[in-house]
Amino acid sequence: MTEIRLQKAIANSGVTSRRKAEVLITEGRVSVNDEIVTELGTKVTRSDKIEVDGVLITKEDKVYILYYKPAGEISAVEDNRGRSTVTDLFTELGKRVYPVGRLDYDTSGILILTNDGEFTQYMTHPKYEVTKTYRVKVDGILKRHEQKQMESGIMLEDGKTAPSEVNVIRDKKNKNMILEVTLHEGRNRQVRRMFEHFGLKVLKLTRVNYDFLNLEGLGEGEYRYLKPHEIKKLV
Ligand code: URA
Repeated sequence: MTEIRLQKAIANSGVTSRRKAEVLITEGRVSVNDEIVTELGTKVTRSDKIEVDGVLITKEDKVYILYYKPAGEISAVEDNRGRSTVTDLFTELGKRVYPVGRLDYDTSGILILTNDGEFTQYMTHPKYEVTKTYRVKVDGILKRHEQKQMESGIMLEDGKTAPSEVNVIRDKKNKNMILEVTLHEGRNRQVRRMFEHFGLKVLKLTRVNYDFLNLEGLGEGEYRYLKPHEIKKLV
């Protein structure tokens, strides 16, 4: 990405002249990515967030990424225990992207990453909760009447779950089972806790659908950009 001097970037935004921008910088009134910068030689790119007196003068291009999160990554930008995070792959992007919601460390599947805060707020607001489908491998068998209970709602420690859809994909009699569970709400570790409620341990958990989006064409650890019509359909 092309780098230009900070004072030129400020002048290009139309806020003031390059000469006056230099004064603003030396007076400590300019920040780049939330840090005050007083060095006139500082180089910036168009993805940097530049503020003058706390007012944003640049607008970052918005990106929306559909990431096939592998198990073994934290859904955060940083981890204080030094574990891999879902943003590690995107440090070279030149934009600071964040996960929209989260998947457990051991969960794989669809995770959207973006630098659009408004989009994130909308997508994660309980009022607009998107439908998500999880493929679950459990250590044991969910009985037919338990499946019915799970579908109509079960009492967990944080209240009764909303109605969900549960489909058996593979039933290895008396051994393990693969199911797909579609939820219209998103509580912490919800799928794992729903199966624990029936004494079943989740061996593998993958989010295979996020609203109308799926993992088609992606392998674990791969990503693609959402298309404009997909973004429109989500919000
Ligand atoms: N439910 C879970 O238990 N874990 C996830 O990561 C997502 C849904």
